Amino acid sequence: MPQMQILCPQCKQPLVAEIKQLFDVGQDPAAKQEILSGLFNIIQCPHCGYQGPYPAPLVYHDPAKELLLVFVPPELGLSQHEQEKFIGPLVQQIMRTLPAEQRKAYLLNPQQVLTLRSLQERILEADGITKEMLEAEERRVKLLQRLLSASEDSLVDILKQEDENIDVGFFRAVSQLIDAARTGNDEVSAQRLEKVLELALEHTTAGREQRAVIDALKDLEKRLAALGPRPTPQALRTTLVDWVAEDPAEPRLQALVALAAPFLDYGFYQALTERAEQASAERRAALEKARDRLLELSKQVEEALQAAVQAVREAIDRLSRAQDVRKAVQEALPWIDQDFLAILQDEIEQARRRGDTHRLQRLERLWQALEEALAPPPTVQLLDNLLRAQDKAERERLMERHAALITPEFVQSVAQLLAQAEQGALPSELKPLLQTVYNEVARFSMLQRLKQGGTGSGAGAAAQEKRA
Ligand SMILES: [Zn+2]
Repeated sequence: MPQMQILCPQCKQPLVAEIKQLFDVGQDPAAKQEILSGLFNIIQCPHCGYQGPYPAPLVYHDPAKELLLVFVPPELGLSQHEQEKFIGPLVQQIMRTLPAEQRKAYLLNPQQVLTLRSLQERILEADGITKEMLEAEERRVKLLQRLLSASEDSLVDILKQEDENIDVGFFRAVSQLIDAARTGNDEVSAQRLEKVLELALEHTTAGREQRAVIDALKDLEKRLAALGPRPTPQALRTTLVDWVAEDPAEPRLQALVALAAPFLDYGFYQALTERAEQASAERRAALEKARDRLLELSKQVEEALQAAVQAVREAIDRLSRAQDVRKAVQEALPWIDQDFLAILQDEIEQARRRGDTHRLQRLERLWQALEEALAPPPTVQLLDNLLRAQDKAERERLMERHAALITPEFVQSVAQLLAQAEQGALPSELKPLLQTVYNEVARFSMLQRLKQGGTGSGAGAAAQEKRA
């Protein structure tokens, strides 16, 4: 990043800072996340202590999406001529990095945006995320904040007032937040969110619809379970057709697509059509309508799935081409999940079968970086190993080998786990073992400090760890 002489936006005194003006996703996949997060060109003024963004003009380029966007902060008051003097060289620089066949017409026509926010919106729009979706998301976040800070007896009133803003996305967001709170052992938030969820299911239009789908799902599960462990395809199909025909309304249709999409094949639709043809005129119309709706819902699910897989493939491609793959992986970690890893494995397998060694190497490099990034921190690994150790002697050896990790903080974290086990938050079988491990690490840590003359987990222990 180039060092530049700039003026502090607050005190207007000169200072030197690293200012980035070219965000080229083709060269650096992380550039996109930088712009979307707004965390770039953050400066610190040595004169007045200002710490915050520096409004530099910038160029954003994404060759895969054919996006070339220019943002000149209006507060700079640059004339048209000054703007061109800045944009020209940066576009030249982009051109030079591109092979001839990729120098396309969009590069001749950079599009100007007026605010950082509209720059971010344009980038997301190219990913298929519209302004309306972003606004809906923002409204949802505000509503959730309101619900979480309101008193419990006002929740129902708020939910009723906001009825039209509560949709499927709201329920999805609340469920995700509950999972996140549980994972983070934040029981208070989890319970509060569950209360919100329960009341929203009861007191809103979308909630009652959602509840009907949940009930239908349970009913379908029960019906399928009654078929036994290995039903014949014929029995399965008849059961599904019977079930829809009983009540061909929206909740059952949604439940069917959610639970049994793979079985909604040609044979199923044929059976449903036959059932409709045998029925009275009125029922026939209802069943045909249900069939069309099922086809539509299945198509939506299929398209959403394909779009998700495609987005992951593109992300894999970008990450595997990153110059600094470790850094790119670190930035991508929040959205890397099991599906991502499965698709990456699939891509590796395909590259191997095709004998595409170049791609294979890149993908394997990415896999390795992911494995490193996803590995638990050493202290978590150590505790895990201690809990799995055969006996006291093996634990002693582990502690000797990783002495530097056995700090008072580590002992404290084992104590916390033990407390959780005592409160019943962890399986009770773990308790005696945790108690033993706790006693041993506490004793080890104490002896260690005594040996070092009470200086704590200092250089001595670190040197010991190095030697090991
Ligand atoms: Zn300043």
